[in-house]
Amino acid sequence: MHQLQRMRRLVGANCLLRRCSATWRSSTKNASFSEVLQLEDKKLTGLVFPLQGLEKYLTPGVNTASFRTFNPSLDDIHRAEALFKPSSKHVIDYFSSAVRMDHAPQLSQPEVCFVGRSNVGKSSLIKALFSLAPEVEVRVSKTPGHTKKMNFFKVGKYFTLVDMPGYGYRAPQDFADMVEAYLQERRNLKRTFLLVDSLVGFQKADHIAIEMLKEFGIPYALVLTKIDKVPKGLLVKNVLEIQDFAEKRMHGCFPQLFPVSSIEYSGIHLLRCFVAHVTGNFPLMNS
Ligand code: GDP
Repeated sequence: MHQLQRMRRLVGANCLLRRCSATWRSSTKNASFSEVLQLEDKKLTGLVFPLQGLEKYLTPGVNTASFRTFNPSLDDIHRAEALFKPSSKHVIDYFSSAVRMDHAPQLSQPEVCFVGRSNVGKSSLIKALFSLAPEVEVRVSKTPGHTKKMNFFKVGKYFTLVDMPGYGYRAPQDFADMVEAYLQERRNLKRTFLLVDSLVGFQKADHIAIEMLKEFGIPYALVLTKIDKVPKGLLVKNVLEIQDFAEKRMHGCFPQLFPVSSIEYSGIHLLRCFVAHVTGNFPLMNS
């Protein structure tokens, strides 16, 4: 924990250690990483590295090497956060929407996209990722039958984040028209994030998405959403099952899962750091 102590000294947080969780919860929405560093060790690990926080619920001998495939230091995570903090020189904002690929903006920055079934928690996650830029409007179109769009968000000159239409009640049309065409054509796409509900696991529509990603040879990572809703024992079981499936059957999938809660804010800082890393903006210095 030397690294943690160093970081705490850096942010001058000593006097605020062991803040109570009620206060923490109420302030999570705009929480910056220097505030997270004020938490006691166990809470900090659970919040920043949710997979590592689950290790104590595992039976001895379970191999957890893939829990740390992406293993940035706290300092790395702290520095990566700068990309998500807007300033006059670093504008983070909604850019445009498109219903077809020929309407998609031509952007040269690296891109990441988020895909998942309707209701998986995609808008909530994108809002959480952008919570340090509260003026960013994450548009949500949920009316059944309403045309859904791809929404493009520019993160300064560094990268673009694309919110893809949720698949579900208008699939497979949405998929064929937008998601499939986008995945196939987008040359600057660096990573796709496939969101899966940590309580219900893979559904039929997720398997279709996985097949598509495999067919196009697209690198992707799995994000497990809503982990605050799942009792820890069940979460561990689901994580291990999903991980096992990913290792054996999901070619192109990053070996480490990213569990998140957009309500409790778990896993959000780590995911920001991973996004910064895969868009080529952020070599890890201190891992
Ligand atoms: P989308 O359709 O994928 O964009 O899903 P939303 O982000 O709109 O979320 C769908 C529902 O799940 C909403 O009622 C959210 O409040 C809820 N939800 C989203 N993320 C979380 C989470 O991390 N934890 C919990 N408990 N609920 C969540």
